[in-house]
Amino acid sequence: MKAACMICNTTYGMDTSPMRYTCNCGGLLQLVQDFSGIDAELLKRQFHERRAERHTLMASGVWRYKELIAPELPDPFIVTRNEGNTGLYETELVRSFTGVRRLWLKAQSENPSGSFKDNGMTAAVSHGRSLGYQKFACTSTGNTSSSLAMYAATAGLASVVLVPDRDVALNKVLQTLAYGAQVRTFTGTYDDGIRWLDKYAEAEGLYVCNSINPFRIEGQKSIVYELAQDMNWMLPDWIVLPGGALSNASALGKGLHDLYTLGFIDKLPRIAVIQAEGASPFHRMVESGADTLTPETNPSTIASALNIGNPPSWRKALGVLQLTNGVTAAVSDNEIMLAKQQLDRSGIGAEPASAAAVAGLRKLVNEGIIHPDETAACIITGHLLKDSDALRMYLDLPECIQHVQLQS
Ligand SMILES: *Cc1c(COP(=O)(O)O)cnc(C)c1O
Repeated sequence: MKAACMICNTTYGMDTSPMRYTCNCGGLLQLVQDFSGIDAELLKRQFHERRAERHTLMASGVWRYKELIAPELPDPFIVTRNEGNTGLYETELVRSFTGVRRLWLKAQSENPSGSFKDNGMTAAVSHGRSLGYQKFACTSTGNTSSSLAMYAATAGLASVVLVPDRDVALNKVLQTLAYGAQVRTFTGTYDDGIRWLDKYAEAEGLYVCNSINPFRIEGQKSIVYELAQDMNWMLPDWIVLPGGALSNASALGKGLHDLYTLGFIDKLPRIAVIQAEGASPFHRMVESGADTLTPETNPSTIASALNIGNPPSWRKALGVLQLTNGVTAAVSDNEIMLAKQQLDRSGIGAEPASAAAVAGLRKLVNEGIIHPDETAACIITGHLLKDSDALRMYLDLPECIQHVQLQS
């Protein structure tokens, strides 16, 4: 397996440890796939047949697409929880809230650890295992650590996670601890944790599973593969998703590029990346036409999964906007909470970061950037139960619960 630098195009082999995440020039690496033997029509049939699998590797909504993700990775190293395979829903409540003609919600919240991070994490942990690593690490505002801890536990491996000491959802930390990870907390932000790992991971023998890990991105491509397969290879006009570290935007774009160049789809949807106002360096960069990202030193938003001031994957995400004629938007915490209530009431439910996508779609329709006659899919990134503090914010306890006298 080979990876190439996003900036200077230098290539590196990925089959030996220590694992390399960045180029000597500092650029992030991206897997280079050899798709020369791919027959799209044959693979479409196979992808369809594999949906009937229940007990093999192909029962996974990531590994079903192994030919497009990590064809050379030997199966025995793969750690899977049958991730992916998430629902695609239409709900009138949320559609009318956003104002588009048709809206689909791809509920990545239905993954085994409750967020889309599982799609990428299964690929990263499996690759690290193939290199012989025993200890896996990440820094995270929560969902990445829950996901990593779950896969490490599944494979009987050790995991170490660095969690900022503020603005994280307690449920995610508890979930991570419950799976048996070693949790280290620190004063600082996600961005400080990334810098620490960059310096010390190799000395500690840690395989880093943050989104700078190019295998995470390859695994996360499966989200758009599955969306396309669910929609019979005809995607909507827009795909809208929240942006924090911008791994999901990068992966979605890379996956779309695969599908388009291989002939699985004949039209590229446009991508809209939605950030929270208090943590929107990427949106500000795009809006101002700047060509480098100016980090935000004190990011702050209720959507803890988006609380990232220096998104490592901004260059990849910018390429995705160029590829798909994409746009960005920023939404306030109030707009996020309003959208969250619609999602929750629709029965699908989501944590605040996911609701940012719905809030952003509504905003882009109101601003005339997305036309009401167009169609869209929102990626619902994390589960409602991930953040009970956010639920307490709008549910007025105990007043909203009716106390009754039970008659015998
Ligand atoms: C990680 C995460 C995001 C942000 O995704 P990036 O790839 O970091 O941009 C959004 N929502 C949820 C629930 C997340 O866990």
